[in-house]
Amino acid sequence: MWPALVIALSAGAAFLHLRWSRRCEALARSVDRLKQDARESAAAHEADIARSHAEQAVLFESMTEGVIVLDASSRIQVANAAVRQLLDVSKDIRGQTVLEAFRLGDLHALVERVRVEKAGGSLEIELPGLSVRTLEVNVAVVLSPDRRLVQAVILVFHDLTRLNELEHTRQEFVANVSHELRTPLSLIKGYVETLIEGAKDDPAVASKFLHTILKHTDRLTYLIEDLLILSKLESGREALNFQREEFRPLVERVVDELQTAADSRQIGLVNEVPTELKVRMDVNRMHQVLLNLMDNGIKYGRTGGVVTVTAREVGEQLVEVEVQDNGQGIPVEAQDRVFERFFRAEKARSREQGGTGLGLSIVKHIVLSHGGKVWVTSEMGRGSTFYFTLQGGSHGGEAATYS
Ligand code: ADP
Repeated sequence: MWPALVIALSAGAAFLHLRWSRRCEALARSVDRLKQDARESAAAHEADIARSHAEQAVLFESMTEGVIVLDASSRIQVANAAVRQLLDVSKDIRGQTVLEAFRLGDLHALVERVRVEKAGGSLEIELPGLSVRTLEVNVAVVLSPDRRLVQAVILVFHDLTRLNELEHTRQEFVANVSHELRTPLSLIKGYVETLIEGAKDDPAVASKFLHTILKHTDRLTYLIEDLLILSKLESGREALNFQREEFRPLVERVVDELQTAADSRQIGLVNEVPTELKVRMDVNRMHQVLLNLMDNGIKYGRTGGVVTVTAREVGEQLVEVEVQDNGQGIPVEAQDRVFERFFRAEKARSREQGGTGLGLSIVKHIVLSHGGKVWVTSEMGRGSTFYFTLQGGSHGGEAATYS
């Protein structure tokens, strides 16, 4: 009996051992899996942190605003690329104070004040140089959780130079427009008052005054039309419709339209554009360019003179157009400025002719939108030649958004 019992017990023990060791193996495998999972999640976590740091570094370096972070003792910890460019520093400024790094006393004082008051502040600084630049700096503090200690100070720099320039241009433009509107309006009012006060009873005087009033209302109309054209061009709302078209017929059309004005000053209009010369253009806009340039040729040309339009290919796919007159010419110092809004080389003559001072800035806008250039050469007493380029291109027909 004993041997059978021993065999049974040992078989049972062996069975238990086998089960036990299987459980142990399973347990060991679970522990390994847990360890592996933990390792993988730690690695994933580290990768997440590294990626987030890399993203923050790229974000920090690619910001257009300049950013500086100062540590608890007001020393520069980091400064991004924008701030190094704005403040023109090439050396490593980490570890320095704002005063040591940039010699900007006002900024240093603001940082100190912000630290003491534990509240943000801002400042505008002007940086001297070839062209003065204006920066706005916003300073913020990072406080400890109990809000007793300053842990860091963050400075954010915005370059206001371009914005200020645009604001200046806008103000100048509004002032010019107001002046241009007010002058004819006050003249019209003056003539009307004089008529009411009795001049209307003298037919000769009344007729003269009424014609003057008409001239000034025309001036106002031209001004408003030119302002509307400029605003349409600058808004970029209208897509240009480029076509590859013959240039000569367009010149011919403008010659017809200006013939009466030219005749009144005995000025000849000559179209010397070769037949079959094609250019890539938005026909309506190019019509405006030719109208403004040829009209100027008549307005500032000499009585009995001539305004000639020519065009020729000057390179692969490039056409140069010339509008030439033999009038009074433009003084050298004014030649670069005639394309500016409201610039007039000779104020009285421009006003007398109903000029708005906007014609050439419209021309420039349109030529640039065609990818061309515009310029003038002139000699006093001999006349002026306005040039502009267009693509003679074989690739026509596509529309482009004006900008
Ligand atoms: P305006 O309406 O006064 O003619 P523009 O912008 O067309 O305005 O021209 C600006 C100024 O350039 C004119 O006032 C004039 O002094 C000068 N100018 C333009 N074209 C000619 C030209 N062909 N000959 C002489 N001066 C010109």
